Amino acid sequence: MSYVDAHVHLHEDPSLIEKDFLIVAVSDDLESSIKTLKLEGVFKCVGIHPWEVEESRESDLKKIEELAESAHCLGEVGLDYRFVKNRERERKFFEFFLNLSREYDLPMNLHALDAWREVFDLLLKYDIKRAYFHWYNGPLDLIEEITSQGYYIGINAAIKIQKKHLRVLERAPLKAILTESDGPYKYRGITLKPSMVREEIQKIAEVKGISAERVKEVVLSNLRSWLNLSLL
Ligand SMILES: [Zn+2]
Repeated sequence: MSYVDAHVHLHEDPSLIEKDFLIVAVSDDLESSIKTLKLEGVFKCVGIHPWEVEESRESDLKKIEELAESAHCLGEVGLDYRFVKNRERERKFFEFFLNLSREYDLPMNLHALDAWREVFDLLLKYDIKRAYFHWYNGPLDLIEEITSQGYYIGINAAIKIQKKHLRVLERAPLKAILTESDGPYKYRGITLKPSMVREEIQKIAEVKGISAERVKEVVLSNLRSWLNLSLL
């Protein structure tokens, strides 16, 4: 059975691809969205990352809308209240993607750093059906609200060194969990990559008290629902 990595910046390093994995490749801006769409054998998200909003043009949004016709999902999109200064602009860009998601029924691969509640509220406001909170480290009491809407919680392979993230795993029900690496992002000296999800699955199995095979099975089924795939 395949492993799942629901959030990889594969355009930065296509060699990160792993044979026994289903990979969701995200983009950061127009240029990387074009690159992502050229990748083979992966699910593809197009979009503009909150960190790239300042550098991107508003005309890029229209171009990404055209690319979205050949994509499986939108991402990495969202809000970042820790590192982004121009909140008005990032909100404007995010609202463009919320409209796009609703209009084309495209699942969202979300970045919501320190804006967890705001992103969640916007999903409800825009009546978004399928959303995934990548590397969730938000308030623990928001997890239940997120999962009761049928949205997904991202558990990152960095869980082996990030204690706070372990609390998220303990709280989130397995039926709402997707696994991811965010590779090739560097976190506390580690270059994250899809292969680390293997170890992460063991950790989830240990915390939830079930077998690794069962974890893989449920995560795969979660991926299928989030991306609205009938066959894999
Ligand atoms: Zn990312």
